[in-house]
Parts: sequence; C-alpha cells; structure tokens
Amino acid sequence: MFSYNFFNTNYSIANSNVINTPNINVYLNHKKLVYLTFDDGPAYIVTDEILNILKNYNVKATFFVVGKEIQNKENILLRIYKEGHSIGLHSYSHDYKKLYSAEEIFINEMITTREKVKSVTGYTSTIIRFPGGSMRHLDSDFLEKLHNNSFKVYDWNISLSDGTYPNLSPDELLSIAKSCTRASPILIVLMHCNFCNENTAKVLPSIIKYYKNLGYEFKTINNDTEEYYFTFSK
Ligand SMILES: [Zn+2]
Repeated sequence: MFSYNFFNTNYSIANSNVINTPNINVYLNHKKLVYLTFDDGPAYIVTDEILNILKNYNVKATFFVVGKEIQNKENILLRIYKEGHSIGLHSYSHDYKKLYSAEEIFINEMITTREKVKSVTGYTSTIIRFPGGSMRHLDSDFLEKLHNNSFKVYDWNISLSDGTYPNLSPDELLSIAKSCTRASPILIVLMHCNFCNENTAKVLPSIIKYYKNLGYEFKTINNDTEEYYFTFSK
C-alpha cells in the first residue's frame, strides 16, 4: 500500500498547464513551497545558464536528467550536484516508444541512469519523473514495482509548456506561469533545460522573482519529499 498522496486529486489533459488544484484544507498548516524542476538535461550552454541564474538568486532546484545526455557532459552534472541542487532520473533514452513498450524496460532505463549519475557524482537518486508525465502509464501495480526498486514518482502541477513549445518568448512563458498559478500552497513547476530552452533561461529570473513576491519558499525534491503523481488513468 502506498502512502496517501495529498496532491492526487485529478488532472485534466496531458501537457495542460494546470493539472490539478489540491484541496486547500490539506495545506492549512503548510508553508507556501515551490519546487522548480528542470527536465531533459544536462545540456550544453542552457543548463549552465540556468545554474548561473539559480546561483545568483541563491535558489535550489531539481534536475530530472536523461541518462544518455550525461556522456561528455559529466562536468555539468557534477556542477548541478556540487551547487546543492537535487538530481532526479528521467529515463536513459527519453524515447517514448521504447521506454513505454514494457514496464521492465522503463525500470531498467531508470536503474541505468541512476548508476550513471552515481558514477559521476557518487549520489544515489531515488526520485524519478516519467517523460511526458505518468498519465496513461502508471497504475498501482507499476507503482509497486517502482517502489520495490526504491523509486518515487514526481509529476507536476504547473507546466510552462517549454518542452512542447521551446520557442515561446520569455514574456509568454511568464504569462503562462502567472496564469496557471492558483492559490495552491505547494507548486511543482515543470520547466526544461535542454539546448533549445534558451528562453526558459531568459525568463527564469522573472519566474523566481514572481514566486518570491508571492511568498513562496524554494525547495528541492529529495528522498524525503512526499510523492506526487497524477491520478491513475491506465
Ligand atoms: Zn522530458
């Protein structure tokens, strides 16, 4: 039996900006927390730019990295780790067709990526994010298998849409962040740090200031963070 998932209310559609609005009563005793998450790295230039900005603002974030991207970019991965950010696993291939052809393949890709991250940083990550999100892929049996391999699943409740639309302007990305931030005390914001996400790096200072002004505290997802996944739809 898995633990009660306090985010797990409902979701609308894949890549929707606001996936769900958690029950506010659950959070009465919670602080306002925002988890900035960056998928698909490490990548040349953009991942470093994002790290520079996070350093300037003294904000820690979570990077869900792709195993095959680590080759020749070990120094970027190491920088993520050394600067106090959290590292999550985002598959080895990021190839949906292959990855979602069998649960064992998915698990093996996460294990391979976990080992790759460990070989570079010495850190063993237990947090994973499904490429494209867990919807249509996750059910209670699969979740149990993931737990048996010490993995915990994290989707998001805000998406900047910069994965599907990396060419959105910084202003457009900021508008999306503003339009989909509801009165939720806990936000998991999906962004990307791939080579094509220049505009995400450009808008990041404004995103950070926006959440700071709203009174949010920045946190990283780590082994102690309660799981957050979309309602099963499989
Ligand atoms: Zn991805």
